[in-house]
Amino acid sequence: MQKQIFIGLIILLGTLPSNTIAQTYTKNKYGLEIIDNVENYQLLIEKDSTLKLVPLDQYIDHLKIDFVYATTKNFTHTILYKNPKPYLRLPAAKALRQVAIALKKRGLGIVIFDAYRPYFVTEKMWKVVPDARYAANPKNGSGHNKGISVDLSLYYLSTGKLLQMPTGFDNFTNKASQDYMQLPAAVIENRNILKRVMEQHGFKILSTEWWHFSFPNSNGKYHIINLNFDELARIVKENKN
Ligand SMILES: [Zn+2]
Repeated sequence: MQKQIFIGLIILLGTLPSNTIAQTYTKNKYGLEIIDNVENYQLLIEKDSTLKLVPLDQYIDHLKIDFVYATTKNFTHTILYKNPKPYLRLPAAKALRQVAIALKKRGLGIVIFDAYRPYFVTEKMWKVVPDARYAANPKNGSGHNKGISVDLSLYYLSTGKLLQMPTGFDNFTNKASQDYMQLPAAVIENRNILKRVMEQHGFKILSTEWWHFSFPNSNGKYHIINLNFDELARIVKENKN
C-alpha cells in the first residue's frame, strides 16, 4: 500500500511541470496546441529560456535578409507579412551562429529568405495555394511556425553576390531536390557546402528543397507560435534579449 502511494506521488510530481506548461498553450480549431498571445509566450520563456525566439540579425554577423514573403514576389503573389525579422528558437539560433562563423572562414555569408513564420501566415498561404506540395497544411503547421526551420542560401562576403544554386527559392520542381544531379559541378558543390555546414551544426535537410533546414524538435518541446513580428519586436525590446 505504502509503495502504491509512493508511486502515485512520483507520477503526480512527474506530471506537474508538463501540466503547468500545457496551460500556457491554447488549442486551436485543429486541436493544435499553440502560443497565440504575448502573455502566454512570456510565461513560457520565463519557465524555459531556451524556448525564446531570438532575432537573428542581432545575433549573427554578416547576415543578409531577403524576405520574399514580405513582397508580392513569392509563389502566392501576395504580401504575407509585414515588418518581418528573422527569428529562431535560442538553440537553433546558436547553431546557426556557428554555421555563420564556419562559413566566414570560407569567405561566405548566409542569406535568409524566411525563418520563424507566424501561424496565421501558414493559414494565409493555404488559402491562396491549398496544395501540400507548395505550402504547409494549417492542420499540421510547420517547422517555421515553431521557430526551428529556416530557408537560406549563401553569398560571397567579398562581392555580396549569391552563390549559384540549383534553382531560385520556392522553386517547386524536381530540380530543387537535394539529390537532383543534372547540374554543373560548381552548382552541386555550392549546394553541398550549404548542406554539409548545416548538418555539421545539427540541422536536418528537407529532401525536396535545397534551401530548407530544420533544427530537431527534441521531445516535441517546440510548439507552434502565432505572434506577429510587431509583438515579437516589442517583447525583445522589453526583455532586452
Ligand atoms: Zn522552409
